[in-house]
Amino acid sequence: MAYDLLIKGGILVDPAQNLHERKDVAFSQGSVAAVENNISPNESRETVQADGHLVTPGLIDLHVHVFPGVSHFGIDPDTTCLSRGATTVVDAGSAGADTFPGFRKYVIEISDTRILAQLNISSQGMLSADIGEFEIPEYANVEKALAMIEDNRDLILGIKVRLTRGSIVSERSGMTPLHKAREAADAAGLPIMIHPQDAWCDSIDDILNVMKRGDILTHCYHGSRCGIMDGGGRIRDSVFDALERGIVFDVGHGAGSFNWKTVESAMEQGVLPTSISSDLHIYNVDGPVYDLASVVTKFLHLGMSLDDALSRVTNVPADIIHMPGQIGTLAPGSWGDAVVFELRTGTYQLDDSSGESRTGSHRLVPLMVIKSGSVYRNHNQAIDDRN
Ligand SMILES: [Zn+2]
Repeated sequence: MAYDLLIKGGILVDPAQNLHERKDVAFSQGSVAAVENNISPNESRETVQADGHLVTPGLIDLHVHVFPGVSHFGIDPDTTCLSRGATTVVDAGSAGADTFPGFRKYVIEISDTRILAQLNISSQGMLSADIGEFEIPEYANVEKALAMIEDNRDLILGIKVRLTRGSIVSERSGMTPLHKAREAADAAGLPIMIHPQDAWCDSIDDILNVMKRGDILTHCYHGSRCGIMDGGGRIRDSVFDALERGIVFDVGHGAGSFNWKTVESAMEQGVLPTSISSDLHIYNVDGPVYDLASVVTKFLHLGMSLDDALSRVTNVPADIIHMPGQIGTLAPGSWGDAVVFELRTGTYQLDDSSGESRTGSHRLVPLMVIKSGSVYRNHNQAIDDRN
């Protein structure tokens, strides 16, 4: 038997290969073995019929929080990410240098979801809803972060820093954590990921000024202070400059960071997201985010083509985290992650994170997920049956 698993009859949408056509995909020993017009079921131990459905690479979510039981934001990765189509996720700062060993041992190594991480420059990470990670300024610790990165280069992709003033992040550290994050990232040769809203500065210009090519501005369409627009609703010059310099503009929808008016106006003015991510955590997994596919759905509503939207959760994030050809594609030899989606049509309420809604006509529903050649079926129908 040549193959372990065959997905037959679906429409393969794989932006990395510029493919959007009916193709069969076969898996062997955990990897993609063949993509052809017609592969016989006789050649495979198991065959899944995907007629009328979409077959995509496993999705990559660059911003989630999956350290349950330690970080107050944490949710279980396998039921909220993997089973919903995100086979690879990047935890965005739930763990810092003091808590990363536990994150590695008790979550990353035992989960089926492929989990990578941005290490919080706060050694505590995001532990408590009552006391922010920079409440004690010394928590922003460059030496500890660097030591942890050296021991975990296989998993840590960069440094995360949140800059919101107030008790949830920082009452008294000001912009110091940003500069500590820059220092650690530069010393480690890694990028930083920044959560900019309501920071201790006059405008986002002060944040973009310290960002370099490959750094990630997440929550790029938030509607709070330190957003990408000026007071008159025009995209700031510093934003166009940052895009030109190769800074990644990442969606990071979250519970407070996706604003319909902001995203609609920004896209009209030519600011499209580089990558689409969910910022999925305990405070938004039951709405308005639900899962990464539901965020992709919102960009279909905004007029983005299916291929362009899927590119931002497959090959583009794979490039950003330096794993092209391994994940985010179904090219032969890649790591064997796929999703069978139904693109449902109907009338769907699409809520942003500030209480506004739009009415969409499509929804991407994951029917089946394949990770490293193994099948995971969708067990969370309630999400898909909502209006
Ligand atoms: Zn987050």
